[in-house]
Amino acid sequence: MPLEVHDLSVRFGDTVAVSLATFELAPGEVLAVVGPSGSGKSTLLRAIAGLELYTGSVRWGGQDLAAVPTHQRGFALMFQEGQLFTHLDVAANVAYGMRDRRTDAATARSAELLDLVGLHGFEKRRVTELSGGEQQRVALARALAASPRMLLLDEPLSSLDRELRERLALDLRQILTDTHTPAIMVTHDQDEAAVVADRVAVMDKGRILQLGTMTQLREHPASDRVARFLGSA
Ligand code: ADP
Repeated sequence: MPLEVHDLSVRFGDTVAVSLATFELAPGEVLAVVGPSGSGKSTLLRAIAGLELYTGSVRWGGQDLAAVPTHQRGFALMFQEGQLFTHLDVAANVAYGMRDRRTDAATARSAELLDLVGLHGFEKRRVTELSGGEQQRVALARALAASPRMLLLDEPLSSLDRELRERLALDLRQILTDTHTPAIMVTHDQDEAAVVADRVAVMDKGRILQLGTMTQLREHPASDRVARFLGSA
């Protein structure tokens, strides 16, 4: 398995934000992490990225990443909003994720990535002239620019209105499939999870209560808490 997370825990003082999380990700697999606010979803993602201190282990291809800093883990992060450079145009924002960003190859790759995210011809546009949905598409193109071995997405569509979110969720699924990029996506929206992810982990109070396909979770919830969350959310 590419990613193996074993007994991962994160504490903030007396708060146990994540408790003994264990799961694996198959090649190209997309996992959604759902659960109520404060259940530890973002902290789990940030720990895998190397942004939080944790106990337990995160392995990639069998290698323990304990001593590997965030920027060397080969993962790309994408958040809800506010991550584009407003003084750069769209192409420069996308190329920012690349090693040799001023070469012809980088220019060609920017154009290719913009095609992929549905923004053909947007290279010279100013970021400030884009809609929220377009900005998130640029952020996704930039996250993919470095050809990450995994994408970590924290509520990537949450700032968008419902209709746009549904459309982008479908596109996101297609893009992850086309690029065969494994991903973990935190979301509070279980419909979005069902569209984008192969499997879903339900978290509550720092623990993964159940992990399976959305169909498995809905038809065979392992506990009342899982059933209640999926029923109410
Ligand atoms: P979620 O993403 O599911 O909303 P979080 O991972 O953000 O949940 O938070 C999990 C728990 O950890 C919460 O109780 C939150 O208050 C706490 N927490 C998160 N980040 C910090 C931090 N930097 N310092 C202290 N407590 C934190």
